Amino acid sequence: MRVMKFGGTSVGNAERMRGVADLAAAARKQTRVMMVASAVSGITNLLLEAARAAQEGQPVESLHGRFEDVHRGIIRELAPELGEARQRSLEEGLSTLASELRGLLQGVGLLRECSPSVLAHLSGLGERAACLILGALMHARGLEPHAVEPRDVILCAGDPLQATPLQEETRARFTPLREAGGPGLMLMPGFFGGDTRGKTMCLGRGGSDYSAALAAAALDAELLEIWTDVDGIFSADPRLVPEAFPLPEVSFEEAMELAYFGAKVLHPKTIAPARERGIPVRVCNSFRPDHPGTRVTDDAAPPEHPVRGLSFLPGIALVNLGGAGLKGVPGTAARVFESMALANISVVLITQGSSECSISFCVQQADAERAVQALEVAFEMERAAGKVDTIEQQRGLAVLSIVGDGMRHRVGVAGTFFSALADVGCSIAAIAQGSSERSISAVIAETDGPRALAHVHGRCFGTTEVVELLLAGVGSVGGELLKQVHQQAPKLRAHGVDLRVCVIANSKRVATASEGIPLEDWKQRLAASSDGAPLDAFRDWARAKRPGRPVFVDCTSSEDIALAYPSLMEAGLHVVTANKKANAGQWSHYRKLRETASRHQRRFLYETNVGAALPVIDTLKNMLRTGDRVLRVEGILSGSLSFILGLTEEGVPLSQAVGTAMEKRFTEPDPRDDLHGTDVARKVLILARELGRQVELEQVTLDSLLPSDFDATGPLDDFLARLPQVDAAFQRRVETLRAEGKVLRYVGSVTEDGCFVGLVPVPLTHPLAAVKGGENALSFTSERYSPTPLVIRGYGAGAAVTAAGVLADVLRLVDGPLP
Ligand code: ADP
Ligand code: ASP
Ligand code: MG
Repeated sequence: MRVMKFGGTSVGNAERMRGVADLAAAARKQTRVMMVASAVSGITNLLLEAARAAQEGQPVESLHGRFEDVHRGIIRELAPELGEARQRSLEEGLSTLASELRGLLQGVGLLRECSPSVLAHLSGLGERAACLILGALMHARGLEPHAVEPRDVILCAGDPLQATPLQEETRARFTPLREAGGPGLMLMPGFFGGDTRGKTMCLGRGGSDYSAALAAAALDAELLEIWTDVDGIFSADPRLVPEAFPLPEVSFEEAMELAYFGAKVLHPKTIAPARERGIPVRVCNSFRPDHPGTRVTDDAAPPEHPVRGLSFLPGIALVNLGGAGLKGVPGTAARVFESMALANISVVLITQGSSECSISFCVQQADAERAVQALEVAFEMERAAGKVDTIEQQRGLAVLSIVGDGMRHRVGVAGTFFSALADVGCSIAAIAQGSSERSISAVIAETDGPRALAHVHGRCFGTTEVVELLLAGVGSVGGELLKQVHQQAPKLRAHGVDLRVCVIANSKRVATASEGIPLEDWKQRLAASSDGAPLDAFRDWARAKRPGRPVFVDCTSSEDIALAYPSLMEAGLHVVTANKKANAGQWSHYRKLRETASRHQRRFLYETNVGAALPVIDTLKNMLRTGDRVLRVEGILSGSLSFILGLTEEGVPLSQAVGTAMEKRFTEPDPRDDLHGTDVARKVLILARELGRQVELEQVTLDSLLPSDFDATGPLDDFLARLPQVDAAFQRRVETLRAEGKVLRYVGSVTEDGCFVGLVPVPLTHPLAAVKGGENALSFTSERYSPTPLVIRGYGAGAAVTAAGVLADVLRLVDGPLP
């Protein structure tokens, strides 16, 4: 005997019904078959909506009309197969159901009341209509299914909308159907049974799975098949996590935990009856009958990963009972949960801290108000005596769970889970672990759910990790960064990293695309986009909480943007910056950046602030972290000045050398930032702060490269026009030094005495003398590196290396191994 349950989408239209008939006919050739069918998809919702409308005195005609139209449409399409006589009798049958519905809705409308019994009866009409049609189709194919009336066989008690089946009695009622000689093909509507008087009792939303499991147990079936619209049970809801994959096998326990915590593919009570009788369950796709689907068995192979799957249960509220007077009082928990039982409220999850001063538990949001009231009544005396001071509810929550037999006795699973939640800035309202170590659940904000689910999934299974890049500034560095991302993205994708540029902004325009902006024509996209405030666009993006790791990348030199980093981190963005203004701003802002990053668990990375992509900041951090004491840092920190000075040594006049550097985009947008030494001073300041010194920019002693009597003020063009005035004197200085065997170098240093920036003549034998043509060089003298210092040297300017440094910072956010 095999029980085959067909879900709503499997009987969703004429075409689907034919598919069901094919599947059942094929199975019938091998064994006896009991088919259990749901309502046509959408019909149960429609019926519930009609009942609500009637109760509120609203018109129900159109809803009622839709019920008839949908079914009549299917019958019409099946007509050629049914034949005229069968079609007519089917239409009569449907009319009977439709007038039953009309009568019920009229009654509800008159009384403005819909009792649970009435609602149960009304809800079951969808399954009855679907089976009527399916039965006729099977008959037309000569299959003669025996119609089973669930109210006669599935005996239930309790709440008519969440009925409890009585399994012994049900089994007894199934006896004639079970015994040899019973019907070979049966068809039964799912979702409901009946009470002792034959009144309809619903098994709860999605309950057709449960009907099928009860039938399978009562019929001693050798297999229970749940035919649905996906390839089995997935590692997570495929609608929420596109990377989720179907699981070939899961254990009964895993299936129960997944279903209980929200995997809608199975009604949570489905597994128990099958498991009691050792009946294997197969979840499979009626759209792809050849796919093996998922087998749920007692002997599921251990999974490759400790976690088998994730589930997500939205619409949850956390109820909290707290008070110092609860500590050590026996029976408190019993009273809490007794009051829930009396109010007929089912408790989803429980947590209690070791202080015993509070008990928290989750219920469906719809039950939360009643749960609070029930507690208020139960603890009235304690409240009056001040022993209980809080009874509150927190709404808008969801339970995210990881489930797997392989989690038992495995270390680090919870660590991965919670750190993944922290990655996406998701705060946790409560935690629970099943005593079997098979599940761990975190209660989080429902709005965080999809994003958290996708990220935890990526961390647990090493599937593709999405990094969303939000870029401000498309000048030379920003433009180069986009080029490099475009080039590297395919290779990164092959390593499981989906790096998407989702927002691109300059000072006026903002282009966005959640799937990533096509980088071959980002310029056109940006030009065609609407005007917008970039900072608002970045914050809005972060707040929309899409799945993925959003990182804000600053390739501007804007002070306003640098000031906004804390608010961007608060909104959930990691920050990578090539802009020195943030770290070289006021000390208070410098501290605030770090505090905000730490409070919101955001990364703040700025390797390119000094020496472009040269590993300066990282090296310094590592020296300090490992206990070295840095005594002195000095070097050539401006690629642009190193380039300009190199040219002057070859006899190029200073003004011309500046022009060439500008053309090559080696300078800051305004070259005076370089020539004055301000840019180098900022880098020296950043290095000093990295060493823990609380200094401000004004405290850096600074000697401009330009003579002090030269007027460098005014608009840029005027300044450039005047610049040749200094050429002759500068050239003389260079030549005089050359005669002495020396060269001029623009050097920045942090010593025990302070921070200095300025032109220094160095002998040709000095290591810094060789550094020119856009190079940077830094030497770190420390307790470990002395007397020979640690030296880092290489290109430290130019868009290409800076952009590469920025990209390297972005990729530091990725967990998995990269190429
Ligand atoms: P049916 O009408 O066949 O009973 P349901 O809509 O009740 O179908 O359940 C199938 C749906 O369950 C899938 O389309 C999927 O979106 C959802 N779902 C949630 N979690 C999971 C999961 N872990 N694996 C598969 N499907 C899931
Ligand atoms: N049709 C019912 C529902 O939508 C039962 C089911 O589909 O399992 O809840
Ligand atoms: Mg279902």
